[in-house]
Amino acid sequence: MSIDDLANPYLPKPVTIEKITIENEEKDLKTFKLAFCNREEEKSFKYECGQFAMLSVTGAGESPIGIASSPVDDGYLEFTVKRYPDGVVTTTLHNLEEGAVIGVRGPYGNSFPLKEMEGKNVVIVGGGFAFTTLRSTIRYMLNEKNRSRYKDLTVIYGARSPGELIYKTELKDWEEMDGIDMYVTVDRGDENWKGREGFVPTVLKEVAPSSENAIVLVCGPPIMLKFTMLPLLDLGFSPERIVTSLERRMSCGVGKCGRCNVGSKYICKDGPVFTYKQIQELQEGIF
Ligand SMILES: Cc1cc2nc3c(=O)[nH]c(=O)nc-3n(C[C@H](O)[C@H](O)[C@H](O)COP(=O)(O)OP(=O)(O)OC[C@H]3O[C@@H](n4cnc5c(N)ncnc54)[C@H](O)[C@@H]3O)c2cc1C
Repeated sequence: MSIDDLANPYLPKPVTIEKITIENEEKDLKTFKLAFCNREEEKSFKYECGQFAMLSVTGAGESPIGIASSPVDDGYLEFTVKRYPDGVVTTTLHNLEEGAVIGVRGPYGNSFPLKEMEGKNVVIVGGGFAFTTLRSTIRYMLNEKNRSRYKDLTVIYGARSPGELIYKTELKDWEEMDGIDMYVTVDRGDENWKGREGFVPTVLKEVAPSSENAIVLVCGPPIMLKFTMLPLLDLGFSPERIVTSLERRMSCGVGKCGRCNVGSKYICKDGPVFTYKQIQELQEGIF
């Protein structure tokens, strides 16, 4: 047993907010770039794409948030957080400025099956701000050290309006790269929008990515997930090859408090990443 095993798992590590990026027109989505105050603690925070961490703000409490940066990003962590008007933690966090210190504990949960995805075409389907951990995964696969292990990437990503698309600069960069096909869509465009219009499931049907030697990662609001599963099955993706991430209110993050269970599984510990097959077995009609 190491000293780390004896450490209090609920104790957050202090991190400084290095940079805040406002992601959307409504200004309720911000990306927080965080640096560990203690470099040793940074080394012990080893995470994989798809995992989450608990972010804590003094006096407000803590919230589980998916890790939006990628393990290939050295020296910092990023989280994209939506502020709920009556949300205690998210509102307090949004009111902080660069230089403020908050807490991070984790990483928690399982991750996307990056090993299993090797040698395969990867289809990414994302909607709204649930795109965060998919962004982490895309950054990972596009990194020069990893790129050759994955075949063609197809990304279908949508938001309600052009102003609600997140990571806009990155989306543009990816559009110009070889080996990645980008299909960015909005529910409704505006006078300046020259791109695609339509809901994510509709665009998925139009793009019709091949399911041959392919695996698909899907994250989005429940309504999007509901209407995405059938087209994916029709395209020939088996439920084992459809991978998604579930969100539930949770408290401890380590499978102790019993707040986030679905059927026999804890979302925080057994998830948040599940295949569609596992979800079907867990609970009929989960979305
Ligand atoms: C595994 C996991 C990963 C997550 N990743 C992210 C992420 O990357 N970015 C992010 O912004 N959020 C993410 N969330 C959701 C986030 O944890 C909650 O939004 C946050 O805890 C709300 O805290 P609060 O104190 O501001 O709100 P609270 O004070 O707890 O709640 C106030 C009100 O906010 C609204 N609210 C709170 N949580 C949700 C929710 N999940 N869905 C809809 N309405 C809600 C409700 O109206 C609620 O009544 C994730 C959750 C889980 C479980």
